[in-house]
Amino acid sequence: MKIVVMKFGGTSVEDATAIGRTAAIVAGRVAIGKSPVVVVSAMAKVTDQLLRAAAASAGGDRSGALAISSRLRSRHRDTACELVKNDAERKTLICWIDEKFDALDEVLRGLAAIRELTPRISDLIVSHGERISSRIVTAAFRERDIDAAHADAREFIITDSEFQKAVPLHEHIEKKTPEKLLPHLRDGKVPVMGGFIASNEAGLTTTLGRGGSDYTGALVGGALDAETIEIWTDVDGIMTADPRVCPDALRVKVISFEEAAELAYFGAKVLHPATILPAVKKNIPVQVLNSRNAACEGTRIISLAPRGKSPFKSIAVKKKVSIIDIVASRMLMSHGYLSQMFAIFDKHKCPIDMVSTSEVSVSVTVDSNSSLPEIAADLSRLADVKYEGKKALVCMVGDDIRGQNGIAAQVFNAIRHINVRMISQGASEINMSFMIDEDDADEAVRSLHATFFQNPDPAVFDVEARKAAIGG
Ligand code: ASP
Ligand code: MG
Repeated sequence: MKIVVMKFGGTSVEDATAIGRTAAIVAGRVAIGKSPVVVVSAMAKVTDQLLRAAAASAGGDRSGALAISSRLRSRHRDTACELVKNDAERKTLICWIDEKFDALDEVLRGLAAIRELTPRISDLIVSHGERISSRIVTAAFRERDIDAAHADAREFIITDSEFQKAVPLHEHIEKKTPEKLLPHLRDGKVPVMGGFIASNEAGLTTTLGRGGSDYTGALVGGALDAETIEIWTDVDGIMTADPRVCPDALRVKVISFEEAAELAYFGAKVLHPATILPAVKKNIPVQVLNSRNAACEGTRIISLAPRGKSPFKSIAVKKKVSIIDIVASRMLMSHGYLSQMFAIFDKHKCPIDMVSTSEVSVSVTVDSNSSLPEIAADLSRLADVKYEGKKALVCMVGDDIRGQNGIAAQVFNAIRHINVRMISQGASEINMSFMIDEDDADEAVRSLHATFFQNPDPAVFDVEARKAAIGG
């Protein structure tokens, strides 16, 4: 059996048209002899809206919460009606959707009375998104002659009880997932399940954290020893740079897990690589694909980096960053200073991106945020503090820079006209990052791209698109 786990994000199931496209993509895999397992997110924006309903209820705004729920009910019913033409099937589905929303409304009413939103109740509320989307998708597939069978993720994606960010219990998942899904696959059926949702050992609904459907995809792929895991989203894959900034940007055909991880931490939003670790551990390739452009082969993420002629795979930029310079002569020869400093960031729940130190100074970069003045005030009890916003971090990633001489010189030569504030080369040796003024960021990316992607290796980058654009 050639099992392929196909995960579709919110935009791939956002309405009847998107679900129709998704069905066609899955039918295409069945037609070439694959055995798909389909994992879907909630319809686009539904998770946010369910969380808003929960917050409204807990804040005592009962009618506001019920109004959100009522709009969601209509949206799901309308989508179901559009997709399922068979009368009996449609009736059953609509009844089922109504039951779920009735139950949801009960919870919202109760919550408005109790006014305390616990993580456990939040998970129960938010789980409706994936529970309902997966049912609608199952029915839509059946209508389109895909022999789909719904599977409730909560029966085999087992986690601890850390509601809202539950940790998968791999032993249980590895055992139960094949038990639940293999019989369907052996019968030639296509299992369809919700991502993100799970349950603890007591059977209470948990979730894997925001964006957790990719994680579900990887867990299922790992447990079934799938041939590939496909992450269907709404972009063509990982690009060498943001195409809006750099029209020459190329699609990266193949990238290592480590490289993709570095990019993601710098805001390349294709997927969160920690979530595909279960796949990487088992050496299962993950393919990122575009459900609006299914003919494009996307980006393949594999364990070991492919060798290319260009030292870099991609340039990522993170804007709206601030730099904080902390200067203290008191710091000289003292210890415990850095930990006091980091404790202040911790207290304000402010994550740090980059750090550089000298004997008397420390510079850190953080997302520009409203608590910077408070952080600076706290820090100024330890040292002299200056902070400055409107900065950008540029992160260049590539496995081939490991141990290569002269790369830094080439990088900084390409942007010699730009003022660089801070530099770091990560211990992973596959990323080179630096900080510049936000206003210089686009120009820096274009110069760097022109330098390093002049003659891209066709084995690693999609050069066909560029050739077509210049008429070659
Ligand atoms: N629906 C969930 C979210 O929006 C999970 C996911 O889509 O991955 O976070
Ligand atoms: Mg997502």
